[in-house]
Parts: sequence; structure tokens; C-alpha cells
Amino acid sequence: MKTKLTSALLAGTFLTLPALAHERAVDFPDTPDGRVVLAADLHTHSVFSDGEVWPSLRAAEAHRDGLEFMAVTEHLEHQPHKADIPHPDRNRSYEIASEKASKAEYDDLMIINGAEVTRGPPHGHINAIFLKDANALLVDDPKDAMKAARAQGAFVFLNHPNWLPQSPDGIARLTDYHKDLIKEGLLQGLEVINGTLDGHSEHALQIALDNHLTVLGTSDIHGLVDWTHNAGTGGHRPMTLVLSKDRSQAAFKQALLDGNTVAWSHNDLLGREDNMKAFVGGCLSLVPEAFDGKYTVLNVDIVNACPIDFTLINMSDETFQNTGDAVYAKRESRTPVAVRMKGIEADIALKFEVANAQVGFRTPLVMELRSLIPAGEK
Ligand SMILES: [Zn+2]
Ligand SMILES: [Zn+2]
Repeated sequence: MKTKLTSALLAGTFLTLPALAHERAVDFPDTPDGRVVLAADLHTHSVFSDGEVWPSLRAAEAHRDGLEFMAVTEHLEHQPHKADIPHPDRNRSYEIASEKASKAEYDDLMIINGAEVTRGPPHGHINAIFLKDANALLVDDPKDAMKAARAQGAFVFLNHPNWLPQSPDGIARLTDYHKDLIKEGLLQGLEVINGTLDGHSEHALQIALDNHLTVLGTSDIHGLVDWTHNAGTGGHRPMTLVLSKDRSQAAFKQALLDGNTVAWSHNDLLGREDNMKAFVGGCLSLVPEAFDGKYTVLNVDIVNACPIDFTLINMSDETFQNTGDAVYAKRESRTPVAVRMKGIEADIALKFEVANAQVGFRTPLVMELRSLIPAGEK
């Protein structure tokens, strides 16, 4: 799909792509600096904690959604199905999902072993992924569980900090307990989007930026992805887009540790400014026609190569002949704007506020799109 889309874009042969045969796929172009964008859901449940499906189905869903990485993160302590499904080995859910992925030859999908350490305040719910043995985290003191996770080289993140039962006003905050975890190197990431809450937290984004925590979006799925998120009919599960040097697990993990991520839910994107700029720079580009020889209004297509609708607010000196300053660049399509240029110029630069891409507390991304203008009359 990516190859077809890219060549169609290069050839400039379409105005709007036909309905995609594989609508749920979440393929993204590389960033302008040559990194790949890997789709990851790092927070999922099955009947091995309080989810409603067998772990193999989680792997099948992730494959259908085109994810490159999925972590299995059962609640260690919250085990409502334990009487029906006893499983003294807390790695079993991961193993079953992994077996499914390898038997079904889901070659592009990697399953990651993880766990959700689930305690009352102030600890709350914290995920550890890239575990070798989840059983080692079943200890009395939750801080010891974090230390056991880190001893296994895990990546550890705080879940849903704006969860209403723990934060009745919906505002994410870091407790002194969590500040200590960060100080001791026991916490590396923060969920700013959680699909079970069906919401996102611009407060959490700012906390992540201020504390050098990796920005994450997850589904925290318990039921079926399709039913919960309309996957396959235009929707998608919330996820983390990881800007990685390559597709290997080592590069993926390093990118997580380096904080090179963008969280995605519906059409909302949250992330650090440099990551967001790289990611959106891969999605959007300008394709101008030549000047027509009579007028200084230039026809330009804003090409959106990503499965995300962008809301752009024009902040350039130039205004548009065919639309106001709010431009909706629909997913995987071209949006024409007629730009009132200052004269016959050799290149064009348009500055936009990307209203659906946040890079701080209520702060949208501002970025410039540039292109050379083809010489000669069209
Ligand atoms: Zn939780
Ligand atoms: Zn959870």
C-alpha cells in the first residue's frame, strides 16, 4: 500500500485516492530525515486479566490493524477471571499471543512481553514492557516491582494520569511518589492518550515534556478493537507512532528510550515539537503547478500522504483565492489552494498552524511547507 501510494503521489495522477482496499492499515511515509514510522500499541488486556478475549485474538487484531509492535500488559494484581482461568505463570498471555503471531506468520508484527503493575494511590497503574519474566514483578512493595522491571531492562511508563477515579477533575498531575520514580530512573514514559478513557490529556503532554518522559498513546483495549474504535470503517485504535532508525526491535526500543514518539487518537496528535515536525513533514507536502503566464495566483496542491485528516490554519503573508485561512487536508488526498503570490517567484513557502497536532499544553504545531515552483507556463 505504501509503495503504491508513494508512486501515485510522485506521478501526481490522482485528485483523491479511491477508497482504500485495506482501510485499517496504518502505513506512514518515512520522515524527511529518513526515519521509519512504526505503529505500536503498548497497552492491551486479555482474559488473562480483565479483558474479554483470548490473547491470540489480540495478535490477530494487531496484525489486521497493521501494527508493527504490540505489548501484552495484563494487570498483575487485578485478576477477575482467575477462578476460571488459573495461570500461575504470568508470561502465559504473552506466550499465547506470540505463538499465534509466529504460527500465522505475522512477519511484520512483533509481540512484546509486559505487565501492568496495578496498585492504589499513589502508585496507580504503571506498565513495564520488554520484560523477560513478568512473575518477578509480583512483589509486595510496588517500588520493588519497578526495580525488578528495570533490572530486566524494561521500559516503564505511567498509565492514564487523568483517569477520573484517581483524578476527579480530569487533570493529570505527578505525585511526589512518581517524581521519585523519575529521579531514580524507574519511570521513562507517560500515557497522554488512553483508549479506554477515550480521551487525551494536554496536561500529561506538558508533564511528559517537562520531565523528559516519552509521550505515549495506547488503546488499553479490553474488548474488541473493531467494536471499540470502528477499526476497518475509518477508525483506528489509539496508538504510539515511533520514529525509529529502522524496523528492528532494538532500534524501536532505543527510539522509545530517546522519546522519539507521537501519540495518535482520532485525528489528534500529541508529541514533542521536533518529533511532531518530522512526522507531519512526512505527511504533508506542497505540489505547485507552474504560473499560467497571466496571473500571479498560483495553483498548489497540499498533498496529505497519511491516514489522518489535518486541520491547517494559514499563517502565511499570502492569502488564498479559493478558500479562507482554515484548510482541511483530508487523509490520503490532495487539497487544492490558489495562493495569491507576491509576483512570479521560483519557490513557495506556506506557514500553517497544524491545529490537530499539539506540541505542548494547548500549543499547536506551527510549521512551514516549502517547494520549488516548476518553471514555464503550464
Ligand atoms: Zn490501568
Ligand atoms: Zn490497562
